[in-house]
Amino acid sequence: MSNEQPGLFDELKPKPGIDHNVDQKSQRQRSTPEKLVPFLPGVKLDEAWPEVSNYEVLKETALQCRGCGLRTTCQQVVFGEGDTGSRVMLIGEGPGRDEDIKGRPFVGRAGQLLDRILLAAELQREKTYITNVVKCRPPGNRLPHPDEIRQCRNFLEKQIRLIKPAIIVCLGALASQVVIDPRARISKVRGQWFKRQNIKIMATYHPAALLRNESYKRPVWEDFKRIRDEYQNLSDR
Ligand code: URA
Repeated sequence: MSNEQPGLFDELKPKPGIDHNVDQKSQRQRSTPEKLVPFLPGVKLDEAWPEVSNYEVLKETALQCRGCGLRTTCQQVVFGEGDTGSRVMLIGEGPGRDEDIKGRPFVGRAGQLLDRILLAAELQREKTYITNVVKCRPPGNRLPHPDEIRQCRNFLEKQIRLIKPAIIVCLGALASQVVIDPRARISKVRGQWFKRQNIKIMATYHPAALLRNESYKRPVWEDFKRIRDEYQNLSDR
């Protein structure tokens, strides 16, 4: 049996072999112990750095990575930053020009807007953890290619497993597809809570999209108010 993580949309479909009229928890308890299941759809745990058990080692591994062609054109790997014990993890698409120069995520115009949104939502940036789906800048800020995403999402999987956030915020379409479901459409999934492996997941528009389109301002603010409320309700933040 496959131990891949299905996209969250699959969980809405009736599952063969499960009597949906019976309490599913008691069904699970009666069956054999569950296998460890990856967090991200499509990831295989044995490819997601199973031998690494420490954040700094994972970061160093990523800094040395030559798993795809992006490292040959970018200046440096932008692994992620913030509080590695944070209960909130924000995930963007990939580093842009400013991030590539500084080696930090979300420090350009979109990052400055994100800082303002976080401030308004009473979330201190340094108390969150921020990263991207891909850790190297795609040339000319193009979208990362599927093979680049497949390689790099193994780092994201392991970051999530090590940091163990209570809340994940997907910034934009790519993060939503990698975290929630490959078929996710940002306009459909944004603003809703999803839950997987006890982690609550919310997608919202990418701050760069907000810079291009003012009409996203209100939905993004509505989404961040819900994120703020959820965060403030966490007993262990
Ligand atoms: N856009 C992203 O998705 N990530 C960054 O780090 C910066 C801009």
